[in-house]
Amino acid sequence: RELPGDPSDAPGPREVTGACYSRVMPTPVAAPRLLARSTEMAAALGFDADEPASDGFAQVFGGNALLPGMQPWAANYGGHQFGVWAGQLGDGRAISLGEAVTPSGERWELQLKGAGPTPYSRGADGRAVLRSSIREFLCSEAMHHLGIPTTRALCLVGTGEEVVRDMLYDGHPRAEPGAIVCRAAPSFVRFGSFELSAARGDTALLRQWADFTIRRDFPHLAGQGESLYGDWFGEICTRTAQMIAGWMRVGFVHGVMNTDNMSILGLTLDYGPYGWIDDYDPDWTPNTTDALRRRYRYGQQPDVAWWNLSRLAAALAPLFGDIAPLQAGLDRYAAAYAEADRANTAAKLGLAVCRDGDMALMQSLQALLHEAEVDMTLWFRGLIDFDPRRPALQPLHEAFYDEAKRHANEPSCMDWLARYAARLADDPLPTMERRARMRAANPRYVLRNYLAQQAIARAEQGDCSGIHELLDVLRHPCDEQTGREAFAHKRPDWARHQPGCSMLSCSS
Ligand code: AMP
Ligand code: MG
Ligand code: MG
Repeated sequence: RELPGDPSDAPGPREVTGACYSRVMPTPVAAPRLLARSTEMAAALGFDADEPASDGFAQVFGGNALLPGMQPWAANYGGHQFGVWAGQLGDGRAISLGEAVTPSGERWELQLKGAGPTPYSRGADGRAVLRSSIREFLCSEAMHHLGIPTTRALCLVGTGEEVVRDMLYDGHPRAEPGAIVCRAAPSFVRFGSFELSAARGDTALLRQWADFTIRRDFPHLAGQGESLYGDWFGEICTRTAQMIAGWMRVGFVHGVMNTDNMSILGLTLDYGPYGWIDDYDPDWTPNTTDALRRRYRYGQQPDVAWWNLSRLAAALAPLFGDIAPLQAGLDRYAAAYAEADRANTAAKLGLAVCRDGDMALMQSLQALLHEAEVDMTLWFRGLIDFDPRRPALQPLHEAFYDEAKRHANEPSCMDWLARYAARLADDPLPTMERRARMRAANPRYVLRNYLAQQAIARAEQGDCSGIHELLDVLRHPCDEQTGREAFAHKRPDWARHQPGCSMLSCSS
């Protein structure tokens, strides 16, 4: 049905107390047009193959119309931003349309990001620009195909309207095309959802949140009372550890790990100024807003997740007489992450299992990759073809960004390769199996910042084929794809400090 179209009805900023969400309609847009869609998500939701191309589809996912049964809302939550309690935040530019239950029983909440103001917009416009929407759309699907827990994206719709962001790379305001991503996840509930009730001392609402989430999203958990809450928190900790280990395996840097961006399901959530490691650097962050403190830098992500979980534990504490199960959950995080880190090491190096010495082997490699300025993705991919009987650096030359640094580090690289060769000689995996294991753990194609930026630049000129092509390549990140070598190249020199290709701001 048609929606009421007067944006002046849009509610202004206010505190929303005693409620977990507010009903709010998307603000209609001038000319919604489908720019891209995920075939897999469309199929999962039961759309016919050509349905997404229909005008009605763009109307719904551009926020101009609803399908029967949709009752849109925006969620209320708070969060710790950059280590500081920020109070109420809420969905300022995300509006959920409803939940779709598929024939196979999967439940998907469909959420428009950039669909106009909500009671949580705090004076901002509730809109999203095309470039950020392309980045969220592509990365959601790319992460899924990499086997990393994430929210998904159904489609990307251009609004036919312009959005002005006050801060841009060059410091001048610029009108940009607007867009809306339809995200999908079993739930968009965040750590910050629980933190807000707790911060307000509303234990009844906190308990309601917990009981609802466990019943709906963790139905396999049995028991009751504090023991149930304890098991639940433990599972959140385990899932979060697995998500972070996924990020670390492929070189993904979230960029804004505030607790309002931490999913209670352990899904990668809120793709803003994220980035991918090109040259291996544990200190790198893509987020210009965090450039000085680097709180959310690549190498810090496992510790930040622990800190975020400790904020969640503090929020849940009123549900416990004895907080020992919360402490146990945090310990479970540490153990699960350590285990996943070992699994990453074995898989990335192609070893049957991770022995104690292998962690040291990996750490010295990482130090070397940093020192010698080596591309993470290309190095591990190149290592697949390593022949332990003839250790050589030559086949890995492509992975180096700086010739001088390569020369300087050649002896240490050869030393490392010799250690690796010795380790392989002592490993039971046959070569074929080792290579298959490495191929699955070390993607050839990742959403490098410059690749996304190239697709964005073309889309801003009206040509969306770059988005479609990238999406298609990223559907099979670990396969060798003939004719698509260009998508596997290391970051070109021109992209090193190019706006959008290296660092990004939160404002989008
Ligand atoms: P983020 O940094 O994207 O996680 O957003 C932090 C908070 O700011 C969330 O409450 C967002 O909903 C809100 N927010 C970000 N951008 C906008 C916008 N353009 N309009 C309204 N709210 C926004
Ligand atoms: Mg957010
Ligand atoms: Mg450095």
